[in-house]
Amino acid sequence: MYHIIADYHTHTRYSHGKGSILDNVEAAREKGLKQIAISDHGFGHMGFGMALSDISKMRKEISSLNQRFSDIEILMGIEANLTGMDGTIDIPDSERNAFDMILMGFHKAVKPAGIRDGWQLFLRNGLDKLIPFQREELTQRNTEALGKAMERYPIRILTHPGAKIPIDSAKLAKAAVRNGTALEINASHGYMTVEYVRTALKEGAFFAISSDAHVPEKVGVFDRAIAIAEAAGVPPQRIINSEEYIQQYSR
Ligand SMILES: [Zn+2]
Ligand SMILES: [Zn+2]
Repeated sequence: MYHIIADYHTHTRYSHGKGSILDNVEAAREKGLKQIAISDHGFGHMGFGMALSDISKMRKEISSLNQRFSDIEILMGIEANLTGMDGTIDIPDSERNAFDMILMGFHKAVKPAGIRDGWQLFLRNGLDKLIPFQREELTQRNTEALGKAMERYPIRILTHPGAKIPIDSAKLAKAAVRNGTALEINASHGYMTVEYVRTALKEGAFFAISSDAHVPEKVGVFDRAIAIAEAAGVPPQRIINSEEYIQQYSR
């Protein structure tokens, strides 16, 4: 059994979650977590990306909550979006240092960096669901784009890898290891198989177990992700939000 003491992937009303930052923090404290990251959807998400103008407001809220509670550390994160084949993500250079932790994942309905990126990343992958065509080439291109993003930005966690687009699991895991990025085992999405986790484990990958909570009650609820990690035989030292890992590597 794992002791997961942090939840780095939680959403609030600043994107399309239902609760406030305080609601998520209270829920995390009730579950005995020692750290929580508020990681709302990146700016490029059409419809529910967080607003650039909210950054300073969120930072203020988080700072005051960190002062108020001594039993939990609150981090300001973001779940950024891949927007370009060259690894561009939707965090402008001016805001690169605004976050304590950058998470990144592939999402649909995101404004592409350019027209060709729109075609390759969003339309090609969308079409593939209807008519699989040159699937292998598409898989390799997706994997390379995610790999480039991990090289260009300090991405701590790649969220739900393999959800929504096909990827080469072993190759992506290698890129994650090279760049110090953990692969997420997400408790809300159903795509991450035990076999995939085993493949990544063999490549030396580290993992993050996350709730991806969009309502406060789901913060710190990891059951499904824990079951997958256990079945794949992931040692707790390879899970970056386990008590074992945090004790070993922090400070
Ligand atoms: Zn996501
Ligand atoms: Zn999310």
